[in-house]
Amino acid sequence: MATATATQTKTAGTVGLKQFIDGRWTQGTGKNEIRSVNPADTRQVLAQCRGASRQDALRALEAAQKAFPRWRAVPAPSRARIIEKVVHLARERKEELARILTLEEGKIFPEALGELEKGINLLEWYAGEGLRFMGHTAPSELPKNLLFTVREPLGIVSAITPWNFPWAILCWKIAPALVAGNTVVLKPSSLTPWLAVEFVKLFESAGLPQGALNLVIGAGSEVGDVLVEDERIEAVSFTGSNEVGVRVHALAGKRGVRVTCEMGGKNPCLVWKDADLELALAGIVKGAFGSTGQRCTATSRLILHEEVADSLVWQIVEFAGSLKIGDGLKPGIGLGPLIDANQLHAVLKWIEIGKKEGAKILCGGKRFTAEGCRNGWFVEPTVFDQVTPSMKIAQEEIFGPVLSVFRVRDFEEAVRISNHTRFGLTSAIYTQNLSLALRFIEESQVGMVHVNSPTIGGEAQVPFGGVKASGVGEREMAKEGILFFSKPKTVFLDYTGKKRESNIY
Ligand code: NAD
Repeated sequence: MATATATQTKTAGTVGLKQFIDGRWTQGTGKNEIRSVNPADTRQVLAQCRGASRQDALRALEAAQKAFPRWRAVPAPSRARIIEKVVHLARERKEELARILTLEEGKIFPEALGELEKGINLLEWYAGEGLRFMGHTAPSELPKNLLFTVREPLGIVSAITPWNFPWAILCWKIAPALVAGNTVVLKPSSLTPWLAVEFVKLFESAGLPQGALNLVIGAGSEVGDVLVEDERIEAVSFTGSNEVGVRVHALAGKRGVRVTCEMGGKNPCLVWKDADLELALAGIVKGAFGSTGQRCTATSRLILHEEVADSLVWQIVEFAGSLKIGDGLKPGIGLGPLIDANQLHAVLKWIEIGKKEGAKILCGGKRFTAEGCRNGWFVEPTVFDQVTPSMKIAQEEIFGPVLSVFRVRDFEEAVRISNHTRFGLTSAIYTQNLSLALRFIEESQVGMVHVNSPTIGGEAQVPFGGVKASGVGEREMAKEGILFFSKPKTVFLDYTGKKRESNIY
């Protein structure tokens, strides 16, 4: 087990955080103190607060309940205008927010800026959706009978989010929920509370009415259970691990409410012998080592045609060796830390399992403790060769910069390996052969497939999410986000003004 490397100290610079309930910033009443610690230098306590208790979560729900009738009565375009203001405010503070993201989560600053931009795109998209919050008309079987639908909000919804995209995931859940007219209780990961507070402050500054968005920062199950089980909640939007997601799905499903759970991945990238290898190399290393591998869409399985395997593998190893590891705020750094001691311990454990299973380690495999990194949760980028599909490292999400390589001879075998996991989030193929690309698109058991681009990424205007153990419920982002957070009401408007001679109804 990795141990903390140094004493954590609160300093004058430690930011004091609070809960946001019913439009007011208040102290939590939970037993635990929540600390946001810099994973690149764990001596630095960046922010702290008293955690929320069950009672705080219940108060947040009451506030959301009280605010709902007023918020749903605000016309959707006016609701969207508040999101538009958040877009402007976030743009003005983009660099500052990205800096907080790097400090708190660890991803390198350029990646943090990218996440900020992605989140802002999502907010922008959903602000536009406020003008398109519409139903449709349909021709009736009957004369002088108007059939149409209107969309309505669900009521109070909860959003439970992970630490690895502490900005973008908040954007893609909260914006559609609010635009659709729901009131929300947000529970971010307790590892990244600071950015969540800044996120909520933007909505406060943009003029969101009291109680429409509430923030509770607390440890997983105490607060989380309330936000899944309370009968006032009409929908639960969860992103996180499978262990927690499966539980959330079962509990919310038992009450018969809407639930979407976006969970883990074990994403394959297939490189065929005719691929542009320079392009493939760039995509593989970005997918595998970007965000220190702490992405649900990270490339964790590399399936190579044997004719190109050797040269590509050694180029990846060379690249891994050249990556500068360190504090993501420093220029030139290519790989930041893992989020915390648990994550470091888990990644190192998976590496040991891989070695015991007989996979051949080509580079990395250890904690990185060079000068300047001793007080952080750094791990070397790691490549395993000679991995077989049944090995645990080929099956389980590692969530670190660890890549497993398989070598194949025929396309059917490659597709079989790529589908041979319980996960189904995303996949990629590098090839110049159009029919192979189309076959891969058809046969890959995933929610998102990339051709000649890495397994990572998503855009506001297309749905995001997976199949199999990677996700249940409605997809997120795009129109699907709005559909999840709203329901249609069908209207039958008869304007004949007299009794009908019809047996249709
Ligand atoms: P996690 O499951 O540990 O935590 C996610 C959230 O659930 C946190 O806010 C946590 O406090 C909360 N939680 C914990 N116990 C709970 C309970 N009993 N009831 C309700 N809520 C509870 O996940 P994590 O470690 O924060 O994030 C990493 C995981 O998220 C990875 O598995 C990754 O693949 C996944 N992820 C998936 C996507 C996607 O869109 N598919 C995106 C990002 C991350």
